[in-house]
Amino acid sequence: MRLRRGAVKLAGMTTSIPLVVFTDLDGTLLDHVTYDWEPARPALAALARIGAPVVLSSSKTAAEITRLQVDMGLAGHLAICENGCGLVGAATGAGTGDHAALRRELDLLPPQLRQAFRGFTDMPLTEVMDLTGLPRDDAARAKARDFSEPGLWLGDASGRAAFLDALRARGVSARQGGRFLTLSFGGTKADRMAEVIAHYRPARTIALGDAPNDIEMLEAADTGVIVSNPHHAPLPPLHGEDTGRIIRTDRPGPAGWNKAVLALLDRLGLQKERQGHG
Ligand SMILES: [Mg+2]
Repeated sequence: MRLRRGAVKLAGMTTSIPLVVFTDLDGTLLDHVTYDWEPARPALAALARIGAPVVLSSSKTAAEITRLQVDMGLAGHLAICENGCGLVGAATGAGTGDHAALRRELDLLPPQLRQAFRGFTDMPLTEVMDLTGLPRDDAARAKARDFSEPGLWLGDASGRAAFLDALRARGVSARQGGRFLTLSFGGTKADRMAEVIAHYRPARTIALGDAPNDIEMLEAADTGVIVSNPHHAPLPPLHGEDTGRIIRTDRPGPAGWNKAVLALLDRLGLQKERQGHG
């Protein structure tokens, strides 16, 4: 069998994709406060040189992720959007339920429960801008929901429990994030990760994340990297940390991301020299 250009031979099996990197965005590849990713440029360039797809995996919408992919030179790579509810760039349009169906379920709830939840779709653009601190175009992309609905619970705690119970009975699950309560028909980053692996068939996987909604992904990868985030409590010890399969960065955000990825590429023998450099 002829090897395709750029193919590598590993332990008797042939694959053209040596590695896929799955990465969370906020607090991981993007700085927690400034959303800057510049410090990760050297590692992103090293991954591009070896043909390793970087799969952005985030609570962000497809519209937000597609924009970032273009900025980062990752256009055309698969990505995981809305916390694992959907895939970006998949020909099959894989995903869990759809946003219109989710809104219909919401509107079938008793009015006193429904009215106390204010979702992004219920809000004018200016309200989403105020709540998120995003400029107009970015807020519009955050409002472009395909699967899930983030929002605020404006009622009391007992109403919130009744709201969540009523949603659960309709097959809708809720996940509380740092600021928003996000409703969906389920799905985790790790569910979509399996589909991405089936698509690329890489020799190895690395996952990087900073928060509880990344745990399934970190534990499912060949190597997991917990990126330090001093803005919230550290993740508890994860399964695989004792054996070194999951590691922690000392530096936060994109600087920690860059250092960890370059070190792993070295360890795996996957570093290619930059042409015309040094
Ligand atoms: Mg994060």
